[in-house]
Amino acid sequence: MRQRAIIAFLVWSTASIVALRAQTTTGTARGDGVLRNSVPRTADPIKRGLKLTDFPRTLKLTDNVYTYEDFHSGDEKFTTTNMFVVTGDGVVVADGQGSPAETKGLVDAIAKITPQPIKYVVICSDHGDHTAGNASFPAGVTYLIHPTSKAILDRSADASRYKDAILVADRYSFTLGFESIDVFFLGRAHTGGDLSVAVPRQKILFLSETFLNRVFPAMRSAYPAEWLKALDKAESMRADIYVAGHGFTEFGPVSREELAAYHKALQAVIAEARRLHSQGVPVDDAIKQANWGEYATWTLASSQGPIAIRRVYDEMDGKLK
Ligand SMILES: [Zn+2]
Repeated sequence: MRQRAIIAFLVWSTASIVALRAQTTTGTARGDGVLRNSVPRTADPIKRGLKLTDFPRTLKLTDNVYTYEDFHSGDEKFTTTNMFVVTGDGVVVADGQGSPAETKGLVDAIAKITPQPIKYVVICSDHGDHTAGNASFPAGVTYLIHPTSKAILDRSADASRYKDAILVADRYSFTLGFESIDVFFLGRAHTGGDLSVAVPRQKILFLSETFLNRVFPAMRSAYPAEWLKALDKAESMRADIYVAGHGFTEFGPVSREELAAYHKALQAVIAEARRLHSQGVPVDDAIKQANWGEYATWTLASSQGPIAIRRVYDEMDGKLK
């Protein structure tokens, strides 16, 4: 699987890379304008120099690829980020928002960009903050989903929505209008059924929750060691734009730097938990003793740190299947 995925990306034509324009359709997204290389590296909208009223917002990555960012629920503000690809024969959406009202916001934002209908929705993360609004997608869209995520959603109240979904265990490629789309499973990461969506002509890779941009590694349902390998694969694909499922959309080189920063954060968090485990520190004490260093200031560190310790301990103890 890994070899095929990498080869697919190596054949991306550099000649067809669309010039990246960091423009916004709202006109209010300061920090993503001309000085994009100097944007504050943070998931916090206020530290970023934005106002809460700037959200939700749509960002234009290239001529026909956009992201949509709305706030995750909870007091600590950070975005849940979706991607959509507009073609002459319909729209592909990667991930939804966390409630029907919020996903309706995404659907309405797409309708402002194009009269084309949404034809495909890729469920890259089966978690509720990306799927609980799926009732707002038009009836008749085709869902793409990993079998592991399908099994999880089959236990939910709206399982029937996914009965005709296309299952993607490894890789699935299709063409819509003039655009080829590749959907990849890069390995178990944040959910176990993590899918990524590539627009190979434009070297764009939406990583959903495999990439949490400046958000502390969230491990409630994660596979820590395998997540690191999935990030290795994502980086080896050498996309020009990597899009995170939480945290801000970054453009070009900044997106690659931030993916590397996230990879480093995940390595550091796992290493700290393993260090405590190897010293025989009981899990409850490890939670108190953990030293997250620079990552202690990342969004969700206080709530996700203890969860990360428990999950890595479970992995070390052979409890993750
Ligand atoms: Zn999420």
